[in-house]
Amino acid sequence: MSGMDRFYKTAMQEFTKDMSREETIAFVLNDIFLRWMVPSVGPRRDMSREESNRLILFAMVSRGITAERASTFCELLLLRLESDYLIPGVVKAGQDGVARAVTSKPILHRFANTISKSTYLVCKELEERYDSDARNIWKRDDNGVPPTSVEIKRRIRDLHGLGLKTTNFLLRLLVLHYGIQVGENAEGYGGGLHCLDVAPDALMLRVFTRLGLVPAGAEPQQVIEAARYISRRTDQPAVGLEGGWELAHLCTVTSPGCGLCPLEQVCTYQESWADVAPLIQQYGDASLLG
Ligand code: SF4
Repeated sequence: MSGMDRFYKTAMQEFTKDMSREETIAFVLNDIFLRWMVPSVGPRRDMSREESNRLILFAMVSRGITAERASTFCELLLLRLESDYLIPGVVKAGQDGVARAVTSKPILHRFANTISKSTYLVCKELEERYDSDARNIWKRDDNGVPPTSVEIKRRIRDLHGLGLKTTNFLLRLLVLHYGIQVGENAEGYGGGLHCLDVAPDALMLRVFTRLGLVPAGAEPQQVIEAARYISRRTDQPAVGLEGGWELAHLCTVTSPGCGLCPLEQVCTYQESWADVAPLIQQYGDASLLG
């Protein structure tokens, strides 16, 4: 998984040995995010039109594959389409051409058929609604006022195949990594954090459950509440919690690789629920979330 190895585990455990359990979880997930997921979308900078379009595709194809693999999707697709630019290349190839490019061996994505259809439709929508420039989704109006995060989320979710998880992930990347300003938090993160919730999905739920942050069978909202709680409690940026996605590639359903996991010492997976029940009750208490 993304280069995580015994050296990384040892280094992380040494670094976090004096931290509380919550601090350790937040710190390690944040470190995983910064080390493997952020580099996969490049350093913080002003985005070009092409980069903004590829960022949308990166977020869309991130499901079911590692961030590392998702980051190469556009480049490999364009090689097969013999185009330098995403939207013109995809639109010109048409839905069938994109499907052939994605599903040719070696296939570019685990969910090749679904992803090839979504790739074509998203590019078409970006062309028609946003003048082939995804930056127009979060562009300021003529008075220099940025759209609210609620509006940006609505626009992203209106694109074909982009759900709640992808939308939250994209908005968090835009604000916390690329420094895009949105209406609610133009003055700083403060009260705007509620707009930057983690993107809960089956992977985050599995990792959060095993780490004892939420009870088994928790709803997505409980994952969001637990993420808010440990972020506020530890002063770690909430953005880092997406590291749970990368960790989930190690923390598999049937055979989690605990031997390489930097969170093994604080993980409750092997413990009885009786031992962690007070913790779960605490995390589940909405009054703690402010
Ligand atoms: S220690 Fe094992 S069960 Fe716990 S989060 Fe890591 S891989 Fe998953």
